[in-house]
Amino acid sequence: MARALDGAAIAAAIKAEVAEEVKRLAARGVRPGLAAVLVGHIPASEMYVRSKVQTCGELGLYSDLIAPPETVTTEEMMDLVASLNDRDEIDGILVQLPLPKQVDTKALLDRVSPAKDVDGFHPVNAGKLQAGRPALAPCTPEGIIEILDRSGIAIEGQRAVVVGRSDIVGKPVAMLLLNRHATVTICHSKTRDLGAVTREADILVAAIGRAGLITPEMVKPGATIVDVGINRITEQADFDRFFAGNAKRTESFAKRGSTIVGDVHPRAYELAGAYTPVPGGVGPLTIAMLMSNTVRAAKMRRGL
Ligand code: NAD
Repeated sequence: MARALDGAAIAAAIKAEVAEEVKRLAARGVRPGLAAVLVGHIPASEMYVRSKVQTCGELGLYSDLIAPPETVTTEEMMDLVASLNDRDEIDGILVQLPLPKQVDTKALLDRVSPAKDVDGFHPVNAGKLQAGRPALAPCTPEGIIEILDRSGIAIEGQRAVVVGRSDIVGKPVAMLLLNRHATVTICHSKTRDLGAVTREADILVAAIGRAGLITPEMVKPGATIVDVGINRITEQADFDRFFAGNAKRTESFAKRGSTIVGDVHPRAYELAGAYTPVPGGVGPLTIAMLMSNTVRAAKMRRGL
């Protein structure tokens, strides 16, 4: 039977390790700090930032939540980031995306000091990752590697297929897998005969943002499936397509009127050797790795 990989348990273990490291640093007079910048009132963004700040508190990190008004300009955001770059108690800067459309997101992310770029979005860090140098890498891809490592799933020599080529997930996870000596193929919206490629995968990473796009016939039996997708479905027909006969989901769908499905059809999980469920697989790792990156940035900046 396919093994479900418990992302919540792995995230909890990483957070416990981070809390220990924070205690060790406190004994040396260092308290890692994270600045979270949240613009506007997008409910998902507010929820993510709230839980990031709360997790800082739980693990003993300093945090500062800065919430500029929705009308903020690129220039004002640039000044804010510049001031955070200069503040010594801030080791990590997190700019919650998406930003309002009047703000030049790329220019802003380029303004974050690479040493404080705990999301790993700065081109300097992307370049270092590509060059195989120590770097702050994006949190979700790092979390995927942690799940594989801590679940005893070998990477070296494996055929890995990543579906999705975003700068946030697809590209960096492909690079991390390559740096760990997997044979990596990246697929995207223009890939021809996607199933023929995904069926080759020993490790299949789906980071697409399309509910259940990866169907059972696209998976090699026994493969490890990493399902990064978070897709909310509200239509009964979609629900039936993915979860017909699933009593627990039926109950929660009836209650809330929506549920979350990954980029992999749940029936495809049954063929896998191991898989990350949605929710509860990759999702919990992202915040854990943000905390870990902030501590790492604090140490790197002080030469520890
Ligand atoms: P994105 O929209 O930036 O990128 C999607 C990628 O999928 C693109 O590279 C595109 O080429 C590819 N794609 C689109 N349609 C395709 C198709 N039909 N066939 C093959 N490839 C196709 O998305 P993203 O930011 O990388 O996020 C992907 C998914 O992961 C989303 O569901 C997002 O919500 C989720 N996500 C989860 C976490 C987490 O768990 N913490 C973090 C980030 C993103």
